[in-house]
Amino acid sequence: MARTQLLSWINGRVGQARAELGVSGPRALTRRSALGLLAAACTPQAGPALNGEAGSVAVVGGGVSGLVAAWRLAISGAMVDVFEASGRLGGRMFTLRDFTPEGLFCELGGEFVDSGDEALLRVCSEIGVRVEPMAPESASPTLYDIGGFQWGDSDVLDPAGPTGAFVAVALRVAADQGALLDSAGEWTERARQLDDLPLSEYLKSLMDSTEPWVLDMLALAWQAEFGVGVSQQSSLNFVDLVGTDTARPFSLHGKRDGAMRIVGGSSSLPEALERRLSGEPLVQRVAIHKRHQLAAIARSGDGLKLSFRTEDGSSFERTFAHVVMALPFTRLREIRGLGGLALPADKMMVINELGHGATAKLIVGASARPANSRIISDRGFQMMWDSSVGQTGAGAVLTNLFADDAAKGEEAAALARLQAGLSALSPELAGTLTPKVRTSLFWANHPHTRGSRATCLVGQYTRYPEIAARAELDGRLAFAGEHTSLSAMGTMNGAVEAGERAARELVAED
Ligand SMILES: Cc1cc2nc3c(=O)[nH]c(=O)nc-3n(C[C@H](O)[C@H](O)[C@H](O)COP(=O)(O)OP(=O)(O)OC[C@H]3O[C@@H](n4cnc5c(N)ncnc54)[C@H](O)[C@@H]3O)c2cc1C
Repeated sequence: MARTQLLSWINGRVGQARAELGVSGPRALTRRSALGLLAAACTPQAGPALNGEAGSVAVVGGGVSGLVAAWRLAISGAMVDVFEASGRLGGRMFTLRDFTPEGLFCELGGEFVDSGDEALLRVCSEIGVRVEPMAPESASPTLYDIGGFQWGDSDVLDPAGPTGAFVAVALRVAADQGALLDSAGEWTERARQLDDLPLSEYLKSLMDSTEPWVLDMLALAWQAEFGVGVSQQSSLNFVDLVGTDTARPFSLHGKRDGAMRIVGGSSSLPEALERRLSGEPLVQRVAIHKRHQLAAIARSGDGLKLSFRTEDGSSFERTFAHVVMALPFTRLREIRGLGGLALPADKMMVINELGHGATAKLIVGASARPANSRIISDRGFQMMWDSSVGQTGAGAVLTNLFADDAAKGEEAAALARLQAGLSALSPELAGTLTPKVRTSLFWANHPHTRGSRATCLVGQYTRYPEIAARAELDGRLAFAGEHTSLSAMGTMNGAVEAGERAARELVAED
C-alpha cells in the first residue's frame, strides 16, 4: 500500500477509534478496543511485501469478513485468492428474497444494523450499498409474556418516573458498568470477578431488588440472543451490553439499537463486494474459488500449504506466503494439521474453547402485521419479531429466534412450538400465520458454520478476544471473522471490523 494511502487509512482508523468511544456495542469492550486500535493504527506492521505472486494471500472463508479483507488487500495491490466452502458468498449474511407471495424478504442470518456500526456503515457507503431505518419512530412496542402474564415496555422501564421493574436492576448494573475498566483502559478486578461469574448467578444476585419476571425475561433474552444457556455465559455479556439509562425508554441491548437494515437485505453487501472483486480492475488480482473447503494446513518453507476439498471430491493444494483465516473457530478447530503449526498454546486454547452459540431462525409468513413488533415469551418460542417492519406490503414476516437445545432440533418441532405458544398467548395472532410460507435455518447444524455466533463463556470475556484476534507465525497467519472482532464480536459490524484489521496486519509499507 502506498504510504499516503496507508496514512489516510490510519487517520480513518484513528477517527473510528475515537468515535468508538461513544458508539454502539458493549461499552467496556468497545472502549478497550478503541484504545488498542489507536496504538495499532499508529504503528503499522512491517510485514513482508505483498506485491506479486510471492506475496499472494489466501483468504479462507467467503463471509463478509473474508470479503472485506480480500477487498482491502486487493485495493492495496496484493494478489488475493478467496476460498469458500459453499457455492455462495456471504455466509451468515443470507437474505431470502421474495419470501412471501407479495415479495417481502426475510433474513436467515444477520438482520439488524446499529446506528453506531461504524465499520459496517463506512464499508457500505464506500461500496455503494444503502442502509435504511428499520422502523418508523412509531414502531409498535415489545410484549413481554412471562409466567402467564403480559407486560409492556413501560412495566419494564418508564422513564417519566423513572418507574418499572428494571429500574433497580439498572442502578445495580450501571454501578458495575462503571467499574469495569481502570483509567488506563485495563480490566479491573471487579471485571474479572464478573467474567468468572455465570450470568445465571449474576441475575440471581439481583433477585432481592426487583420482581422475578423481569429477571426471567432477561435470562430468556440473553439465551436467545447469544445461543448459550445463562449458566454457561459470562455475566459480562449482560453487564457490558444491557442499556441502563433510566431517563430513556428500555433498551435491551443498550447502544446496539438495531435501528437500521441494509436496503434489499443483508446479502446486498456481500453481493456488492463479490461484484467489486470480480470486476475491473480488481479481477486482475483476485480469484474467487467457491466450493473449495479447507481440509488441511501445513508449514511449507516460509509459507503455508493449504489443501482444499472441492465439490467433486478432488483435492487441490497450494502454498501461500500469507493466509487470512476468516472461517469460524468451530470449523478451524477441525482443520487437519492445525496442531502441527506450532501456534502458541493460548491461541490453540482460544481456537478450541471460544464459545459459539446455537441459535436457529424459523420464519413464517402472516396475513397481517402484529400489534407488537417484538414478543419475548417463555411459552417455548423465546423471541419473535416482525421482519416486515419498513417493507411495503400488507402481510408480515414473523421471525422466531430460539436457542440452545431447541436450536439443534428440526423445523417441524419448532413450528409446532411456535403455533402452540402463539395460540395460547393470542389466538388472533396465531390465526394470521400462513405456515405454508416458511423457512428455517438451524445454524448449529449448518456444515460450514456449526454455530450461530461467537459468545464468551464464563471467564472468556476479559481474556479471549485479544488472543483470538492476534496474528501468528510472524504475521503470516492473520485471523478475521466476527469471532475475532475486538469490539463487536458476534455482529456484522464486528465481522467487517475484523476483516479490515486482518488486511491491515498483512499490508507492508512501500
Ligand atoms: C441467526 C443469526 C442472527 C444474526 N443477527 C444479527 C443481527 O441482527 N445483526 C448483526 O450485526 N449480526 C447478526 N448476526 C451475526 C452476523 O450474521 C455474523 O456475525 C456475520 O455475518 C459473520 O460473518 P463472518 O464473515 O465472520 O462469518 P461467516 O459469514 O460465517 O463466513 C465464514 C465463511 O467461511 C466459510 N467456511 C467455513 N468453513 C470453511 C472451510 N473449511 N473452507 C472454506 N470456507 C469455509 C463458510 O461457508 C462461510 O461462508 C446473526 C447471526 C445469526 C446466525
